[in-house]
Amino acid sequence: MSSIRYTKKIALVDCNSFYVSCETLFNPKLRNKPVVVLSNNDGCIVSRSNEAKLLGIKMGEPYFKAKDIIIKNNVQVFSSNYSLYGDISRRVMRTLKRFNSDIEVYSIDEAFLDLSNFSDDEIEDVGKEIRSIVLQWTGIPTSIGIAKTKTLSKVANHIAKKKETGVTSLIGIENIDPILEKVEINDVWGVGRQLTKFYHQNGIYNAKQLKIFLIPGLKKVLMF
Ligand SMILES: [Mg+2]
Repeated sequence: MSSIRYTKKIALVDCNSFYVSCETLFNPKLRNKPVVVLSNNDGCIVSRSNEAKLLGIKMGEPYFKAKDIIIKNNVQVFSSNYSLYGDISRRVMRTLKRFNSDIEVYSIDEAFLDLSNFSDDEIEDVGKEIRSIVLQWTGIPTSIGIAKTKTLSKVANHIAKKKETGVTSLIGIENIDPILEKVEINDVWGVGRQLTKFYHQNGIYNAKQLKIFLIPGLKKVLMF
């Protein structure tokens, strides 16, 4: 006898290289090219295409530091256009609301969606459908991580980013420790350099260690 399970599930939908993806919408020639977008007054690199990442250009790096690589590799450089990004962000969020009107917009290119009303069995397919509809309707590629808490959905999203399908679900996986072990804390927790340093000083380098390390009270904050 099969039973349909509806457990708690949260999806984190994150637009890939969002500002670069927005620029590429209006300039398809940029596809599969190294492209970066700069912060206000062109100080730092705030968005990179995959090709730019592969050249070793770092997130948040000052423009002048990356300038040699940029010139040598003919990297396309854009000043940020926040009214454009805001407009496209609203289109993405509106599309996501078709799956659950109660979404939590977390940043300009990320949102949490409660998908508990879909069954455990179908959830990976639902993720793929969301991804394909967002791409069709807005032109923006996304990665989708699904898990039982927000923090774990962030872990799942990190894994999804490296996958062809762009979707990872941790729903129904009994022991996620081996997965957490492979995830470096600074990749997932959205914590700044200071907090990462603090964790490192305490010998904590991956998400599994962080879970064990959890002090009472912190558990809630991290949403495990
Ligand atoms: Mg993003």
